[in-house]
Amino acid sequence: MANPVLPSSGVLSPLGLDAVRLNPGFWGDRAALNREVTIAHCQEWEEREGWIGNFRGVRPRKGREFSDSEIYKLLEAMAWADHPALPALAETVAQAQEGDGYINTRWSGSRYTDLEWGHELYCYGHLIQAGVARLRMHGEDRLTQVAVRAADHVCRRFMEGTETCGHPVIEMALAELYRVTGTERYLEMARRFVERRGLPALADIPFGRAYYQDDLPVKQAQVFRGHVVRALYLASGVVDVAVETGDEKLLKAVEAQWERTVAGRTHLTGGMGSRHIDESFGEDYELPPDRAYNETCASIASIMLAHRLLLATGDVRYADLAERTLYNMLATGVALDGKSFFYANPLQVRVPAVPLEGVNHAAEGGLRSPWFDVSCCPTNIARTVASLPAYIATSSADGIQIHHHTPSEIRHGDLAVRVETGYPWSGAVTVRVVEGGAGRISLRVPAWASDATLAHGGIVREVTPGYAVAEGPWRAGDEIRLELPMRPRWTFPDRRVDALRGSAAVERGPLVYCAESVADEPPLGDLVARVAPPVEHEADGIVELEVEASLGAGDTPGWPYGAAPDGRPSGADVGLRLVPYHRWGNRGPATMRVWLPI
Ligand SMILES: [Zn+2]
Repeated sequence: MANPVLPSSGVLSPLGLDAVRLNPGFWGDRAALNREVTIAHCQEWEEREGWIGNFRGVRPRKGREFSDSEIYKLLEAMAWADHPALPALAETVAQAQEGDGYINTRWSGSRYTDLEWGHELYCYGHLIQAGVARLRMHGEDRLTQVAVRAADHVCRRFMEGTETCGHPVIEMALAELYRVTGTERYLEMARRFVERRGLPALADIPFGRAYYQDDLPVKQAQVFRGHVVRALYLASGVVDVAVETGDEKLLKAVEAQWERTVAGRTHLTGGMGSRHIDESFGEDYELPPDRAYNETCASIASIMLAHRLLLATGDVRYADLAERTLYNMLATGVALDGKSFFYANPLQVRVPAVPLEGVNHAAEGGLRSPWFDVSCCPTNIARTVASLPAYIATSSADGIQIHHHTPSEIRHGDLAVRVETGYPWSGAVTVRVVEGGAGRISLRVPAWASDATLAHGGIVREVTPGYAVAEGPWRAGDEIRLELPMRPRWTFPDRRVDALRGSAAVERGPLVYCAESVADEPPLGDLVARVAPPVEHEADGIVELEVEASLGAGDTPGWPYGAAPDGRPSGADVGLRLVPYHRWGNRGPATMRVWLPI
């Protein structure tokens, strides 16, 4: 069962890379690009920057204190992609492991002297996740031995006491290692790390203990707060521990925190994180489009968490948010050529970025960069896209559930189906039975699909958001056809989102659209759009949209406040072209905005 997450109980069971294969299409093409281009790109940069050399003992050591984790995330990507470069890289890593299982190229010699910022347990977490991926895809080898020895070292060193790491991830890694090996001490160690948090377990810091979720015990928190990636990795580990120990209260606590966070701390794209200073959530409804941070890694963490909650509860809302985040954040994070990446993902860029050669020393998101000083996002994308088949479908006692509609082959028991679709450009999804079997086939109908239909056995019926169910048994050649309405639609913000008042965005299917202005096109600063049905333009299979707008030249500087409401726009009438947000920034420096003043 080749899955990044394989709970021993839950409403739904994931179907893994051995059960789901992506065919050419939106995600299948990206998975192929990831395997053929992105993985090698990451390895090349890790070599160039000296981060792999650190494991060979090259000194002085290069990179930030957590750079080991980038090699581990790359190894995880290689494991899911069954990439031929894995064994040699794993061998290099293994050289740096000490006799008692300790491994860290930064802190060897001064172990565990800075748990707040040192990232030692964080690095183990990613090493263990890589080991789990390798165990499930391949079986035991050098990499899995290194990971297991590291996990055993962690259990010996940290089982007693009150310590934990400033950056969560070890929790979900150990819980998963327990799932794959059955060794209970790994789960117990994960449970203790979760329990220690907020007692508090770490020192106070200028950002405050909320930064690393050490301000409150998990069960007492009402909402996700602090550093977004830390918060969501922790929550993912908490769900794993709750599911494996049967702690219903712990699971309910995370569900409630997720609900409030989605209600007030999530951008339209599914991105999370409004503050640059500490890469954190803002307060409820603090969702500025231009100052949005929305780290790519945070969106990946959100997908991981939503997937775990979906498996535990079967609630469609988790799959809905995962889809929003997949198409508008994960897909945005990497360029169409697979070789450059966004770290921050704002919803408005006022000034075109200046292209730069080489490493980006900042996270700001105006153009994708090939690599960063803190290069967590590229390898995170690589491992997530490599494991994407495991997020597509699930099974339960009564059949299979298809959560994400993309060309694929899905097998469960005797039943094998092929999903054919041009989604997200087209709303027609055909499920063909290739080998017959028993059970229901459930297809997710997204929350925005208000008049979808399902055709099956000669009957066409309307289906509502949630899951459209077709009853078996199935014979080869049977067909189900889901039609999702793909009309472009205007979306308006809650009035409490102060920064978005007076504006609206356009969505079509699962895609958020944006206006993009490249090169000598007029900038988008003085823009007013008219809320009327957008016109569709299709070229090379990509659907772009056009809305009516008034666009000013952006001149007349002066005092920007007055005694009366701002008057009618004085710009020229234009047909404003909107592109899918995930495609923006692929044509060079540009200004961009998702939310259009209306
Ligand atoms: Zn990142």
